[in-house]
Formats: sequence, structure tokens, C-alpha cells
Amino acid sequence: MGEKPEKSPGARVDQSTMSSGWWDERFSKEDAKALQKVGKENASKAPTPTAGKDGKARGTGWGSASVPTQPADPKVKQPYYDKRIELFEKYFERTQFDAAQAAAENVPIKITLPDGAVKEGVRYVTTPKDIATGISKRLGKEAVVAKVDGKDWDIFRPLEGDCALQIFNFDTDAGKYTYWHSTAHVLGQALELEFGADLTIGPPIEEGFYYDCFMGDKTLADEDKEKLSKRIDKIVKEKQAFQRAIVTREEALHMFQENPFKVEVIEGLPQGSTITLYRNGPFCDLCRGPHVPDTSVIKAYQINQMSRAFWRADVNNAPLMRVYGVSFPDKKLLKKYVHRIEEAKKRDHRAIGTKQDLFFFNPVSPGSCFFQPYGTRVYNTLIDFVKSKYWDYGYEEVTTPNIFHFNLWETSGHAGHYKQNMFHFHVEKEEWGMKPMNCPGHCVLYSHRVHSFKELPLRYAEFGVLHRNEYSGALHGLTRVRRFVQDDAHIFCRKDQIEQEVTAYLSMFKEIYDTLGLEYDLALSTRPEGFLGDIKDWDEAEAALTKVLNMWEGQEQKKWTLNPEDGAFYGPKIDITVYDALGRSFQCATVQLDFQLPLRFKLSYVNDQNEKEVPVIVHRAIMGSFERMIAILTEHFAGKWPLWLSPKQIMIVPISGAANDYALSIKKTFHSARFFVEADVRDLTMQKKVREAQLSQFNYILVVGEKEMEKGTVNVRTRNNKVCGEKPVAEVLAHLTKEKEERSLTGVYPLKT
Ligand SMILES: [Zn+2]
Ligand SMILES: [Zn+2]
Repeated sequence: MGEKPEKSPGARVDQSTMSSGWWDERFSKEDAKALQKVGKENASKAPTPTAGKDGKARGTGWGSASVPTQPADPKVKQPYYDKRIELFEKYFERTQFDAAQAAAENVPIKITLPDGAVKEGVRYVTTPKDIATGISKRLGKEAVVAKVDGKDWDIFRPLEGDCALQIFNFDTDAGKYTYWHSTAHVLGQALELEFGADLTIGPPIEEGFYYDCFMGDKTLADEDKEKLSKRIDKIVKEKQAFQRAIVTREEALHMFQENPFKVEVIEGLPQGSTITLYRNGPFCDLCRGPHVPDTSVIKAYQINQMSRAFWRADVNNAPLMRVYGVSFPDKKLLKKYVHRIEEAKKRDHRAIGTKQDLFFFNPVSPGSCFFQPYGTRVYNTLIDFVKSKYWDYGYEEVTTPNIFHFNLWETSGHAGHYKQNMFHFHVEKEEWGMKPMNCPGHCVLYSHRVHSFKELPLRYAEFGVLHRNEYSGALHGLTRVRRFVQDDAHIFCRKDQIEQEVTAYLSMFKEIYDTLGLEYDLALSTRPEGFLGDIKDWDEAEAALTKVLNMWEGQEQKKWTLNPEDGAFYGPKIDITVYDALGRSFQCATVQLDFQLPLRFKLSYVNDQNEKEVPVIVHRAIMGSFERMIAILTEHFAGKWPLWLSPKQIMIVPISGAANDYALSIKKTFHSARFFVEADVRDLTMQKKVREAQLSQFNYILVVGEKEMEKGTVNVRTRNNKVCGEKPVAEVLAHLTKEKEERSLTGVYPLKT
């Protein structure tokens, strides 16, 4: 598949429909833990989704702040901005005073680097940047952020004692996060100074950042980008240093009292948490940090789109403007980014979907796709591909209902934690819900009769239609939909079978992803704080997964990584990141162990001692949602489908009307051999018909005339206008059948030499 694509954080916002776990990953671990305790009586107070990864901001809870009373006008807001700085200086001095006193004591400290080297420093004097510069001038210059004993730390913030220090540059995820987050402060300042906007939140996202602000009725237009850019240029030139101050809740509330959004955020912070403010130039924001040392490190940036949003993503709340941007420490990186975005635009699955008559959406059912015949061919080919693997790997297909009484969702836990993402309704005065996941149905299936240890593992697979109630404004092509199908399966097994099942899963996963030509990385996510269940089970399961991953690493010569404490609260999992041809990352496949769901459904099997035991459930998916996978593959292949997956495989082009019957007979031959084949018998020139077929991305074009008819041959061409020459029909059929059956990514037809 050529060279490995350059890795970059995914360039777009999309949906984690791939999560086949019964608990949506968009809930944080803390939410999970808290909710487990709170129980269903408080279900209506469900937490804010907190997925930084899918582009949504981290929040503290729904609520509708009152709308600011002052108009969006920088002149009107100036006294508020001035007040903030005046107060900040006071708090900053106080913070500095405490630090200066500690610094004066001149206490030596030991700083341990990741390689074990120990550096000397002085308490409240030495900064991570000093240490970085001591290692190399270049590292000092490039260092963006640090971690001190695992905690995020400003690169310019003095160390407070003996510690373990890690330093990150822009090339790392931590570095990018801080860099983009810091640039969001610069954008925030520009929005205030240019438009007098009331800022809400400005988080980094997968690639870049945004700032949401309230501007009354005003909407930003493209010409406003220039104003913002000019202001940002100025801020960067001013080399504004980021300063940090610690304040009390009352002080923070007082400082931001003119901005009801910030007030709501402050009020949502847990009691007793440290509240920090950051200033750069005339701008001051409530923020946990960390940040870059000063604004001059931003060497290149771009304001991207500006769109409508709502406070806390709720249409009933204040309408906001969202301004997206991206920044880089090097102009070349911006250039590369712009190129990649342009390439991505050309490959946009929505555009290709329309052009190739694959699928469309209609307001009669937003977020639920209409797949046309061509699109359905792709859809079915992918499903058939997975089905063939199920056959090889001993899965059984099952069929379960689409709607379930809410009693089932109570048992599964969805009623408490997931209801707002479900379509639910009343039938005969009882509440019902459409399934957002297959797991609960499969548990019912399992519990239908008694199982012996000898029967396990049972691998239930279902291409069930799932529905999730996504906010209409968040819907996006095939990547964020309401209706989808996953290659979802649940393995009910004994604990001693975890290793073999996960090994088989990885092997199946590899076969499928190698066939699709997608690169991938594996990571093990271990038990989070507040995990549920027996620690011994966790230890054994994590050991089994580690063993499997090590074996995989040995075979594939590819390192896996560890995400400590990042597992679901119900079991450890292997996270799989997939990269497409543009180097964008996606999460589609997943394999998660679950010790909790079997308990909720009181599942058991009879062991060899004739006692009841609880099985483990392995939630696993490879494609994830087929809808989303079709979006990824459309863009990955840029609409040039490999033959086996192509909805338009062969076009027969007769040179003249005299060859039409021959063309139709060839069509029949290939149709019988299960090819998607068409014959263009319109009264147009051969050249025009060939060109059209190539633009429609037919893999092969077979041109026939009276001469070919006599000899039983065809003239073979590819969509890229490679000429293979005149060949006997039987030979072409044999070649193309081989290419299709091998699911080859590249055409194997020998070219004319
Ligand atoms: Zn910040
Ligand atoms: Zn599941």
C-alpha cells in the first residue's frame, strides 16, 4: 500500500458509533462512577457528554445561563476588561509573593527525567523550560508543555519540589493540545477586542481549536476573518506572556460577574477545587491551563469556519457563534495542513456519494441515509466480507428485536445513563425504546436457556439496525447519523478463554484492515479509578490482554502502547486507531471485556463442578458502523473503489449499433459471473462513452466492435485509461474473477506491453 501515511490527529469531527460497549464512551469515567452511585432516580440529571475527542467541549453540566445584558461592543465592554486586568494583577502579585518567599529559601531539588537522569534545581525557581534548555537549546525552544509527576504543568511555571519531569514539543499530543489551547486564548482576545463578544468556552479539538462566544443577533461573516486575523497578528507580535494566578471561587465569580457563561462555569466547578486564571496582554480567562510561555510562539495560524452553536449544545439555550482555527509553530506545517484539507474536500464522501449515486439524505428523516442501488452494493459487499470472516472464525448470526420495553433498558443501565441518546415512545401506555446497541438483546438471547461450560464461547453476531438520537445540528453526512448498522458481536466466554478470543479477534481484525489498506495502531486501556468488579478479575484480564498484544507485537513488528487507567469502568479494552490515506485517524474497531453486564442480566453457565459461574462478555466490532466505514472508505479511496468493493465494475462499450447485441451478450456473461456490469448502447461516440465510464469510476471498460464480435474478444481499458489490449472474453473473465476474489487493492490486469 505504498508508504505509511503520516500520522496526524483526525481532521474532523465525527461520531463514536463504533463503540460497541454498552456504555457510551462519550461519558467520562467520573460521570460513570458518580452515576453508578446516584442510581436511576436521578437519571434526569444526566451528565454532560465530555468527549474532547469528538470535538465537543468538556463541560460541567447542562444549564441555561442568562443572556448577557450588555451589547456586544468593545467600547461598552472596555471597563469590564480593565477591571479584570486590575484584579488579575492583584491576584498575580499575591501568587508571586508566596512563590518568591519560597524561592528565597533557596532549597535544592532533584528533577528526574524519563530516562532516569537526575537534574539539580531550586525550589520555586527552576522551570521545566530551564531544564529543557539545559538539555539542548533546541529542546528549550521547542518545548511547549511539561508534565510534573504526571500532572500538566506550564513550561514556564517554577517547579515546587523533587519531581519526575516530562517535556513535550508540538509533535506530541500533549504539545498540540497546549499549543492550540493557548491559541484559543489569542482568538478569544481578538473576539473581545474586535467585537466585544462574551466568551463562553474555547477548547482545543482534534486538529485546532475553537472559541464559542455570544454576540447577540450578530453573526460573523467571512470578511470578519480578516479583522480577527489582523488582531491576532498584533497579539502575536506583542509577545504577550501567559501569567498564572490562583484565586478563590468568590474572587473568580467577582471577576467574571459581567459574563453569565463564565459565572455558570465557575459555579459548576467542584467545591474545594483550585481555580486558576491566566492572563496574556489585556486578556484574562478562567482556565486550568497549561499554556505556552508567550504568544510569539504562534508562527502560523488560520481562522477556519465560523458557525452557529448553542450554549451547552442545547438549542433552548443562548445562541452562540463558534469560530474555528488552527495554528502551527512552522509555516510549512500550515501549508501542509491547507493542502491536506483541500485534498480532504475533494474526497468528501458527501460529494462523492452524490456524484456516484451512492446515497443521499432527505429531510423526511434527518440522519438516516437513503442508500441508492450503487451505495447498497458497497454496503452489502462490506457486510458479505465480514460474514465470510464470521464463517471462518466460528461466529453465529442472530436476529433480535429493534424495540424493547423500557424494563430491558432499566436492566442494562441505559434507562439511567443513556436515555437522552435513545428514541423512546409509548405503546399501550408503556414506554419502549429503539435499541442504540445490540448488547442487551444478546444478553436476553443468552439467558434464554441454561449453558454448560462446554458450549462456551458463544459468539453472537448481529447486523442489527441501531438508532441513536443525535441532535439534528450535530448530524454530519455518514459520519454522524441517527440510523446505522454495526458489525457488532458479543462473545460469551469463560475467563480462561479471554486470551484465545482476543487473539482470534486481532487476527480477524488484521485480515480485514489489511484488505482495506488501512493502517492501524493498538493500545491497551487498563482499569480506571472507580472501576467496578473484582480486582483479581481485572488483573487476570489485563495480563491476558498484555500477553496477546505482546504476541501480536512479535508477529507484526509493530509496537502497542499503554493507556493507563483509560479502560471502561466495566472492563479493560484494546483501543484501535485506524489511519486513512490522508493520515487522518479514526476509531472504528474495538474489543472490550465486560464483567458488569453479565451481572446485570444475571447470566451464568454451569461449570465442570456443576456450579453456576458468571461468563465474561467481550464486546467487539471491526468495521464499527458500516455507515461511517463507508464514509471513511469513500474518502480513503477518493471514490476509486477497488474492483471487489466497486459498485461499478465493468462497462461494455460497443463501437457502433452493429455491436450492440454482442455488447449485451458479454454483459450477460459477466453478470452471470456475479459482476456489476453495464453496457452503454446509447447512440454516442465510443470516445465519449469511454470517457463517461472512466469518470463514473468503472474499474474496467471493455470496448467491442464487429471485429471483436467475430473473434470473441474485447478491448480492455482501465478507468485510468491504461490500455490492456484485445483479449479473449474467457481470459478477461478469469483475470477479473481472480482480482475480485483476492480482494486486490490494485488492478492485477496485465497491461499491454
Ligand atoms: Zn487556557
Ligand atoms: Zn456490546
